[in-house]
Amino acid sequence: MENNSFKLEFDAKVENVSFARGVVAMFAAGLKPTLSEVNDLKTAVSEAVTNSIVHGYDGKQGKVLLETKIIDNKIDILVTDFGKGIEDIDMALQPFFTSKAQEEHSGMGFTLMDSFMNYLEVKANPEGGLIVHMQKVIKG
Ligand code: ATP
Ligand code: MG
Repeated sequence: MENNSFKLEFDAKVENVSFARGVVAMFAAGLKPTLSEVNDLKTAVSEAVTNSIVHGYDGKQGKVLLETKIIDNKIDILVTDFGKGIEDIDMALQPFFTSKAQEEHSGMGFTLMDSFMNYLEVKANPEGGLIVHMQKVIKG
């Protein structure tokens, strides 16, 4: 498939999590992914977008930016927010680390992204907030 990309900005609302994961799944369809690969992508996008909404903005208003590229047989996804960001990123990436244990978060979001994708990089947004960069090779 030819290289392709899109950029989408949406409000940081919980109801937009399924919208975001659906958009990525449809966009990736051109790569003829297996069901399991689509589910991996959907889970990773859901986890990243949910984090922006519940942690980055803590339920307050904000914007989430979703940028997706198809480069050969690889899908490259950036989820950016402009929320509070993470002070200690290495600690936040540890399995079971959560700052919201009392709200039934298990601290497994980043671990899921890491295991379902081939590449995960989490970095501070220079404008404030967080950037999650993920890639997955689609074998189909
Ligand atoms: P779960 O994803 O299992 O519901 P969780 O969201 O707490 O729990 P992770 O997704 O692994 O677990 O995130 C770990 C921690 O990193 C969060 O508890 C939060 O403190 C911080 N974090 C993650 N994403 C963001 C973000 N976009 N902005 C600010 N803090 C974040
Ligand atoms: Mg999470």
